[in-house]
Amino acid sequence: MTTVGQENARMLASLLGIEEADAAERLDKTVRITAAPGLAGAGDEVRDLLERTIHVVHSDEAEPDLELVIGPVEPATYGPYLYASLNQRGVIIDPVPLRHSSEHVHPLLTALAACHIAAAVLHRVIGSSSLPRLALPLSVDFAELGIPERGLATPFDISGAVLVGGGAVGNGFLRALRHLQVRGTLAVVDPKAVGEGNPNRCLYFTSDHVGLPKAVTLAQAAQPDFPGLKLEARACTFGELVAKTGPVDTAIVTVDSRRARRSLQKEIPRRVIDASTTDARAVIVHSHSQPTDDACLACIYRHVPDEHARERSIAHGLGIDIETVRKGFITADAAARIAKAHPSVEASRIVGKAYDTLFKELCSAQALLTPEGRQVLAPFAFVSALAGVLLVIELVRSNRQAATTNYWTVDPWGAPIGRLRRLRPRVPDCEFCADDDAHSLAHSLWARSAEVR
Ligand SMILES: [Zn+2]
Repeated sequence: MTTVGQENARMLASLLGIEEADAAERLDKTVRITAAPGLAGAGDEVRDLLERTIHVVHSDEAEPDLELVIGPVEPATYGPYLYASLNQRGVIIDPVPLRHSSEHVHPLLTALAACHIAAAVLHRVIGSSSLPRLALPLSVDFAELGIPERGLATPFDISGAVLVGGGAVGNGFLRALRHLQVRGTLAVVDPKAVGEGNPNRCLYFTSDHVGLPKAVTLAQAAQPDFPGLKLEARACTFGELVAKTGPVDTAIVTVDSRRARRSLQKEIPRRVIDASTTDARAVIVHSHSQPTDDACLACIYRHVPDEHARERSIAHGLGIDIETVRKGFITADAAARIAKAHPSVEASRIVGKAYDTLFKELCSAQALLTPEGRQVLAPFAFVSALAGVLLVIELVRSNRQAATTNYWTVDPWGAPIGRLRRLRPRVPDCEFCADDDAHSLAHSLWARSAEVR
C-alpha cells in the first residue's frame, strides 16, 4: 500500500537526488497558517494544498517549523515567518513583513496566489538548494495572466465541453472552475480507477476513494461546488465517448501522457484547452481551435525519442513487450502475463488500468526500479492545482477570443510571465497535421462554425 507520504517522498527524492528515507524526513515539517480575517479564503486554499504534502498545525500545541502570515495580522508564534500580501494587482511573498492594502481579490486569483504561496512555503521548510530555484521575495503580477476584462465576472455556459482525465490536473481544473459562474453540462471522462498515489495531489479524492472509478468519483465529489452546472461522469476513454456521441466541441485535456494526447487529437475536437505538468518543474498550457494552420495538440506533444526509453522501461519492468505497452490500457491477456512476472500483482485488479498508472504504483511500492523513474513521478499538489487554474484562465481567454497564442510554459516555483506565450507553428511531420484526410476532415467539420463565430 502506497501512502500519500510515500508518494511525496519519492517525488522529492527524485527532485533532489537523495534517498527516499531522507526525503520523508525533509517532508516531516509543520507549518502554521495565520490569515487576516479578510483573507481566510486564501488561508484555506493554501492549507488545502499544503496538507497533502506536509503537516499543517491549527493550534498552539507545537512550535511549527514555519509560520505563514497572510495579510495584515499579528503572527501567533515566535517564528520563523514567511509573509504573503495579496491584493488586486498580485501577491508578494517575503521573509520580511510587508505593507498591505485591503482589497477584495477574485477567488480564482486567490487560488492562483495560493499555489505560489504553497511553493514558497515548501521551498522554505524543505530548504534545499537542489529544489528548482525560488527567489524571495516572490512577486506574482496578475496582469501577466492575460485575463480579458471582466473575464472572471462574466457567467458562461460550458455545455459541449468534455473534461478529459480525472487525475490531478482534472481535479485542479474543477477546483479552480468552481470560482467562476458556470452553468450547463460538463462531461467528465476517464476510464481508470483512483490509484493509491492519487490522493496526495487530487484534492477531491481521499484514500477512501482508492479503487473507485475516477470519473464518477470526481463528478460526485465536485458536484456540490457547482450549483448551476451538471457534471456527467463517463467511465470510458475520450475516443469511446466520441464514437457514441459524435465530434466534441471542446476537449479540456488533462490526461497524463503524450501518447494519449496525440490519440485524442485524432478525434478532432473543435477546440482543445490543455494543461500538463512536467514533474514538479513546469506547467505547460496549450489551446487551439479548428481549423488552424498552427500547432495542434499532436504537434505540441509530438513523439520524442525519450518516450521510447520510458515505454521500454515500462515494458521491461512489467515483463511484457513494448507493442503491448503502446496499446495504453491493460487487457486481460496482458494482465495475466504481468501477474506471472509479478506475484504481488493480482491480474483481475489491473485489467483496464493504464500501463503508466500501474507502473507508477509499482514504482512507488518499490516493486520496480527504473532508470527513467523521474519521468513517471507525480508532482506536488500545488503544481497540479496551478495547472488547473491556468487551464481555467486559458478557457476564459479562448471563450473571449483572447487566446491568440497556443503555447505557454509557467515555472511553478517562479511567477507566470506573459511574454513567454508563444504561437507555435505546425510540425511538418505531425501525425495529425501531416495526414491530409484528417486535416480536411477537421476543415469540413469545423470551418462553418468558425465563420459563424
Ligand atoms: Zn499537428
